[in-house]
Amino acid sequence: RAKRLGRGRVEIFDDDLRAEITERAALEVALRAGLEAGELHLHYQPVVDLRTGTVTGYEALARWDRPGVGPVRPDVFIAAAEASSFVCDLGRWVLHEATAQAAGWRGASIAVNVSGRHLTDHRVLDDVRDALSASGLAPALLVVEITETVLTDDPRAREHLRILRAEGVRVAIDDFGTGFTSISALADTPADILKIDRSFIGSDDPGHHQLATLIARAAHTFDLRVVAEGIETGEQLARVRADGCEEAQGYLFSRPLAPEAVERLPAQLISPDVHVPVPRAPEG
Ligand code: C2E
Ligand code: MG
Ligand code: MG
Ligand code: MG
Repeated sequence: RAKRLGRGRVEIFDDDLRAEITERAALEVALRAGLEAGELHLHYQPVVDLRTGTVTGYEALARWDRPGVGPVRPDVFIAAAEASSFVCDLGRWVLHEATAQAAGWRGASIAVNVSGRHLTDHRVLDDVRDALSASGLAPALLVVEITETVLTDDPRAREHLRILRAEGVRVAIDDFGTGFTSISALADTPADILKIDRSFIGSDDPGHHQLATLIARAAHTFDLRVVAEGIETGEQLARVRADGCEEAQGYLFSRPLAPEAVERLPAQLISPDVHVPVPRAPEG
């Protein structure tokens, strides 16, 4: 009897899995057509310098308004795109669109999320170079955002990041702290910026706050700039300032915006804090 139950469970799992794969494949087909039909666009979230309160740049975030369905969450459609090399076509489009837009925002940096599958594909190098030359954007203004797991999966990821950095493009490790990279791995990571995941910032758990403090301190040891993600309250802002984070993003400053709204945004989003507390020495 137990055996029958067990087998039943396996069959249910198979059915669920099959349904999920079919759904994802259907989404990918619709997304391909949607990209062709111009249904995708980008929103831009300001990145704020915590010392001056000014906007230093933006992160480009993909949006898909599916006709007859409504907005599809980006983590959902990006996951569908990652099932095939279509994610490289999507990535190429985002790079071109974002750099063209940012070239008109004089001096602002632009961060683009690059999926692991695109980063390990040899075409990623020319996709970045083509976007930069077509837009005329200075390479130093482009930030390629990758997740920490990408670095451990495939040696080509590191190799491509090394080449891009040699050409002047900056690299950010996104969502840091959610993967299983050890802090010591930061020593030989080809990156310029570390973004602390918003789960540490938004949590009520003091243990998470201490982890954020430790991550910031470790990142600074390896000369990485630190960006705090997902700042929603003044309390969270005070905390990441105390941790010495250089920059931050979050709804407290601004939600991701359509390009027209970016152009109306004031240059200064928060008042400069001249009393940035120095991080405390470890107690012992
Ligand atoms: P991400 O790169 O970590 O982007 C930050 C996400 O946090 C965005 O969600 C942003 O809207 C959200 N966010 C920003 N500030 C706050 C805040 O204060 N509170 C809360 N609750 N959320 C905040 P979004 O736009 O839904 O994107 C989700 C993820 O989808 C991104 O996470 C990124 O991994 C992926 N993604 C988005 N656009 C692209 C793209 O063009 N290419 C690739 N490969 N991935 C993308
Ligand atoms: Mg990102
Ligand atoms: Mg992130
Ligand atoms: Mg994220």
